[in-house]
Amino acid sequence: MKTVNKIYINGKFVTPHGTEIFNLINPSNNQKIGEVTLADETDTKNAVAAAKEAFKTFSKSTVSERIKYLTRLKVAVEKRKQDFTDIMIEEYGGTHQFVTMSNQYSGAWFDSMIGVIQTYEFEKTINSSLVKMQPVGVVGIITPWNASNSSVISKVATAIAAGCTVVIKPSEMSALQTQVLMEAFHDAGLPKGIINFVTGLGNVVGTELTVNPAVSKISFTGSTAVGKLIAKTAADTMKRVTLELGGKSPNIILDDANLEEVIPTAVFGAYMNSGQACIAPTRLLVSENQIDKVNEIAKATAEKVIVGLPQNDDTNVGPMVSVKQFERVQNYIKIGLAEGATVLAGGEGKPEGLEAGNFVKPTIFTHVNNKMRIAHEEIFGPVLSIIPYKTEEEAIEIANDTPYGLAAYVSSPDVERAQKVASQIDAGRVCINGFRHDPMVPFGGFKQSGIGREYGVYGLEAYLEPKAVLQ
Ligand code: NAD
Repeated sequence: MKTVNKIYINGKFVTPHGTEIFNLINPSNNQKIGEVTLADETDTKNAVAAAKEAFKTFSKSTVSERIKYLTRLKVAVEKRKQDFTDIMIEEYGGTHQFVTMSNQYSGAWFDSMIGVIQTYEFEKTINSSLVKMQPVGVVGIITPWNASNSSVISKVATAIAAGCTVVIKPSEMSALQTQVLMEAFHDAGLPKGIINFVTGLGNVVGTELTVNPAVSKISFTGSTAVGKLIAKTAADTMKRVTLELGGKSPNIILDDANLEEVIPTAVFGAYMNSGQACIAPTRLLVSENQIDKVNEIAKATAEKVIVGLPQNDDTNVGPMVSVKQFERVQNYIKIGLAEGATVLAGGEGKPEGLEAGNFVKPTIFTHVNNKMRIAHEEIFGPVLSIIPYKTEEEAIEIANDTPYGLAAYVSSPDVERAQKVASQIDAGRVCINGFRHDPMVPFGGFKQSGIGREYGVYGLEAYLEPKAVLQ
């Protein structure tokens, strides 16, 4: 049994004022593995006060000081790589494959921000005036359970690069991962108050961060529903917001693509992070003339997908994070059946031998109409919808017929053709021929997938406030 009973304020691990206990459950077997003491509004206020005090000095730090801190954070986080891996498997049910890949980038988040501020012009002259990019202030960082470490690390790296101080509220379901992060950040030895952690519930700690007038900005990653709530509440104190929200990403397979290559990639892609990924390509758009061939390959691929214990090297799909998430996915599978979609693979219930955990059968629906709820709503589990299109124009229309606009994918050997299609898709990130990651290019959503961008210069500027001095 593990106990998380400290939060991190002003450079010290302190006992929270909050006393509520939240049980931590291993999603592979639903056994209790630990407890976290949830912090409350008082704790949040204390953390904000520490961050506000630290901001007075830190906001005046030089770029080279910040680079020194970012380097120390990088070293400290990289030292704990194995701990992150172990705990993400145990607490979150992240597969060994996913967790290893995700942890590979931990240090890179700091490197990319070091790279950005080495050349970024924090001061510019425009005509005879000075334009200064000032750190925005205290930032409230609120993150989800499905990518806890990478969300926290990438946001902290950007905030530090900008000269902002932070109060971090990770998901209550990520308390063990948070403990490792708190220790790593503490070991980096930054001046007190720059980084603070408050574990707790969204409607307690998250709400206090959102209303507290000393917080200048909220950087949130999570669901669209909570993102809307934060945007509304934050408006009262005119906080800046960066909202990284949900997705229902289209994956357009153009009719000249090599189906034997792209369909298996598409199926495994939809199941990335066990389907609990905001950027997962969950709508597979294929030419109606090729749908039989696509179905055949997709079904054969689904049979190769290994659902199992997340610690096994060969597991592709692990358990859903919680019973609630398991039930959500089951409910959507029922909805898909009721809507008349054809089940090509998977379906309701748990895979044989995995009844103790929150495992679902990786599912593929085909002959899906984009108006169906399974094609429109974010399921956040390993459920893929294959949607036929008649023409390239219709493929683009279907791709854009969604409230979301986070990511999109296009496959074709004719790169120019793929680029032309990509240019017509309303999404913050369009990948051509495969899945790509680049921490220097902007990440974020169109439409209800969010507001603002993270990563690289675009991400940095979201933590800065331009000030013009006219002379
Ligand atoms: P969630 O919105 O339920 O929770 C996210 C965080 O917000 C948690 O820390 C939660 O405690 C907190 N929260 C809840 N209510 C709050 C409130 N009223 N005020 C302030 N904070 C509050 O999301 P989740 O279930 O943890 O994560 C899954 C969702 O996150 C999915 O919709 C997914 O698409 C999205 N997500 C988006 C991205 C992206 O980069 N766009 C990345 C990962 C996950």
